[in-house]
Amino acid sequence: MVYELIIGLEIHIHAKTKSKMFCRCDAKYFSAPPNSHVCPVCLGLPGALPVPNKKAIEQCIKLSLALGCNINKFSKFDRKNYFYPDLPKGYQISQYDLPFGYEGNVEIESTAGTKSIRITRVHMEEDTGKSIHSGAKTMLDFNKSGVPLVEVVTEPDFREIKDVTFFAKRLRQTVKYIGVSDADMEKGQMRFEVNMSLRKVGEAALPKYKVEVKNIGSISVLEKVIAYELKRQSELLDKGETPVQETRGLRDLTGVTHSQRIKEESNDYRYFPEPDIPPITFTDEQIFANRETMCELPTDKKARYMKDCGLDSALAETLIATKGRAEWFEQAIEGVTDNKVVSQIAKWFVGDVIAFMNANKVKLAQLKLSHEMLRELVELLNLGKISSTIAKQILPEMLETGKKASVIVKEKGLEVVNDEGAINEIVKKVIAANPKVLEDMKKNPAAYKFLIGQVMKEMQGKANPQVVDKAILEALQEK
Ligand SMILES: [Zn+2]
Repeated sequence: MVYELIIGLEIHIHAKTKSKMFCRCDAKYFSAPPNSHVCPVCLGLPGALPVPNKKAIEQCIKLSLALGCNINKFSKFDRKNYFYPDLPKGYQISQYDLPFGYEGNVEIESTAGTKSIRITRVHMEEDTGKSIHSGAKTMLDFNKSGVPLVEVVTEPDFREIKDVTFFAKRLRQTVKYIGVSDADMEKGQMRFEVNMSLRKVGEAALPKYKVEVKNIGSISVLEKVIAYELKRQSELLDKGETPVQETRGLRDLTGVTHSQRIKEESNDYRYFPEPDIPPITFTDEQIFANRETMCELPTDKKARYMKDCGLDSALAETLIATKGRAEWFEQAIEGVTDNKVVSQIAKWFVGDVIAFMNANKVKLAQLKLSHEMLRELVELLNLGKISSTIAKQILPEMLETGKKASVIVKEKGLEVVNDEGAINEIVKKVIAANPKVLEDMKKNPAAYKFLIGQVMKEMQGKANPQVVDKAILEALQEK
């Protein structure tokens, strides 16, 4: 039987702040000695009082706005009660019925065009400590305890693995753009949880069960988990069984899941308002200020590049991959009004420049090529002063030395030869060496084009291809 995927995501993102969510401990705990970033608050000692981190709340509001959410002007923190050794208070401070952001919407590019993914909520909470299992012993490190976490919850709107991947990548890109998080997945700064079930194609109701897989630390593993669960759940449904509603975990990065526990209902957590933190209110002005100071989002940038600059989707997508890359491109096209030139600059940048950076592990900030230099290169090409063969040849030197195209061209005498006499001479030589061409042209009038390449080769790419084309046709007519 063929089934349709029903997937909702929960994503935990470490907000980028100096200190933790409710205390002044340094939030940059990664690779610090165990329990070196702790205090009575994040150790959950009795009597310690939490004070909310304003910056973290702002980050949560920003992400909510970026995901098209409404903002609760009256909000509060709640206690989510459960026992676990890495949660010394016996509860996690989270948000229950009044999250900062709710009812958002994100557009993704799906197989059948644009698709909307509804965002249920965006709320703020604190991370837990870390249990380290070593043989029969379990050790606890509370450096991560109390690090601010923003949780994004989507509605079960995903129907294809590809859509999940697109959304996950776009979300990661967005949080990095707006500075909410570095979203470094290797450091656990972004983790996914997938809620998944299957229904028969054509059915409208949501399935009666839901399987949750927690703590997925990379987008590729997320894809593998979905593929594995699709197979596992399909097989059960084919046998007439209903998969158990449960939480499943991962043992490794293969995507294979195993049963952990039967899923808790939210009332198992006995949520109640956090008595030590007063409710939080926002004014319209405060919300507006967060919106105003936010940079252009990747999706909007892409749409603008396509609409205003006439770039195609793939090229625009490559340009917006990182905020730095998009900003570099925007500076390179500053003052350029002709979209043909904009598109040329874009192509040289994503093609040759980025390829050079990847091959030589060079970062944008270390690039010796300035925006003006790339603009000049394209300009020389358009003026017919150099051929594209020469441009391709000198760009690596520009990247390596920081020398301008015009300087290299001059130094090496690479300027295009427009001298018809010199060109005609080579043309004659090439035609004489390829006498079959006239015969070929009877079948295919464009057969002579092959000679252009031969002439260019003879002249080390320094001829103007249009002049060569004309010269060849004239020489052939004389024959
Ligand atoms: Zn602390």
